[in-house]
Amino acid sequence: MSVPDFFTTHQPTWMQWRRDLHKHPELAYQEHRTSEFVAQQLTRMGIEVHGGYGGTGIVGVLKCGDGPNIGLRADMDALPIVEESQAPYKSIHDGVMHACGHDGHIAMLLAAAQYLAQTKRFSGTATFIFQPAEECEAGARRMIEDGLFTDHPVDEVYALHNWPGLAAGAFSVRSGAQMAGFDTFDIAVSGRGGHAAMPHDCTDSIVAAGQLIGAIQAIVSRNLDPQSAAVLSVTQIHAGDAYNVTPDAVRLAGCTRYFDETVKQKLQTRMAEVCKGLADQHSVEVSLDYKAVYPPTINNAASQKKAMAAATRIVGQDAVHGAQNPSMASEDFAFMLEQVQGAYVWLGNGSVSEFGALHSPRYDFNDAILPVGAQFFATLVEDAKR
Ligand SMILES: [Zn+2]
Ligand SMILES: [Zn+2]
Repeated sequence: MSVPDFFTTHQPTWMQWRRDLHKHPELAYQEHRTSEFVAQQLTRMGIEVHGGYGGTGIVGVLKCGDGPNIGLRADMDALPIVEESQAPYKSIHDGVMHACGHDGHIAMLLAAAQYLAQTKRFSGTATFIFQPAEECEAGARRMIEDGLFTDHPVDEVYALHNWPGLAAGAFSVRSGAQMAGFDTFDIAVSGRGGHAAMPHDCTDSIVAAGQLIGAIQAIVSRNLDPQSAAVLSVTQIHAGDAYNVTPDAVRLAGCTRYFDETVKQKLQTRMAEVCKGLADQHSVEVSLDYKAVYPPTINNAASQKKAMAAATRIVGQDAVHGAQNPSMASEDFAFMLEQVQGAYVWLGNGSVSEFGALHSPRYDFNDAILPVGAQFFATLVEDAKR
């Protein structure tokens, strides 16, 4: 059977796997059924299985002679979203949904494993990494802390993410930043509440917080180099519960995004300075709790070239993009790329009107791209040379 034939012939089976996973979504670190499904399939393929990384994480190891060790990663978690779908494989867990296509990522990586285990046309080792908790919970970091790369030292590591809005089966992979870094902040503004008709007897935390929101917006526009992309979004405001009471305190929260460590430092430092200035100006207390969540996802130049070459062989150069804008969204595969060189690649999921956007209750993974992603993973392993 030719290589493309293998992938088209098995597509219906992989689609069944994908839909079964879709029907049984599990949230971060609760991917027990999913993890067991992955382990069973890998075992059936004759692939060595190692569990216990990041709780539900699974590592499959397939050796075939001497050569480089290529790590391939899929994320397994779903999101707390109520699915809007008529599909027979709609989520049976109310309020939990595979709205980011991780069901498809698992199926594509298992499909690649099946092909590589059956054909063994490579020299070296393929390491299949199935990670928990990509959505905000840093499952990749926990796998690394549990010894992922010391137990399984890979030479390079790659991951795919389906990308709505990019033509189905097309690829996009940049050299350098592909996804932004992501931090969160919590700000507490504390004053002295009282009767709303007697503001002179209060220290108004609401007015101070209102000005603070405007002031921190100016950090991106006034303190950063305009060539350095960054986002600072306030996403929560909590205060008060009466018409005639000035509350004691306001809590604000939000996130920042950036591609560069110096930009992150600037955002954090300026936020602290602005908070202090506002506190003095309004005689309130302002505390800032700024937390690093995910670093930027940075592709290695050599790995990006290899990914481009593999993708081009599968879908042709017109469908492979190497210089599209990076996304301001974030991804915990960044932690793996901090340890090992590699690349994070987008695979087109097709039109948003047909398959929905990521994290939308109407999103669905496009099963037509399963063979493309699987062949891409397999080609990276077959192409790898010392
Ligand atoms: Zn997501
Ligand atoms: Zn995702």
